[in-house]
Amino acid sequence: MPTRQCPHCGKVIFDQSTQCPYCREALSAVPEVRLRNPHRAVGRGKIRQGLLCVLLAALVHYFAGGYSGLQLPFPIAPLVTIYLSPLLLLSGLGLSLSGMILQHKA
Ligand SMILES: [Zn+2]
Repeated sequence: MPTRQCPHCGKVIFDQSTQCPYCREALSAVPEVRLRNPHRAVGRGKIRQGLLCVLLAALVHYFAGGYSGLQLPFPIAPLVTIYLSPLLLLSGLGLSLSGMILQHKA
């Protein structure tokens, strides 16, 4: 027979019991699940996405700017290193910052 832990006293009881035999507290049929704060999880996800964007911008700038010494088989327009990779970096920083604010508010 499956068992679970009593949410009131912590002792192991049968899964189907409606009252704890130890502390006599009434139990719900389905064990309660505590949900995490959704705003906090969203904020954490945004921080992660923003930091990933920053990493991607650094990689793009490193290889497209010619700092790696690796000869790329195709030419990359200077537009990428002048505007696009810094824009991606700033966007990633902004996304991380908004995630931190969301997480702090939650
Ligand atoms: Zn109990």
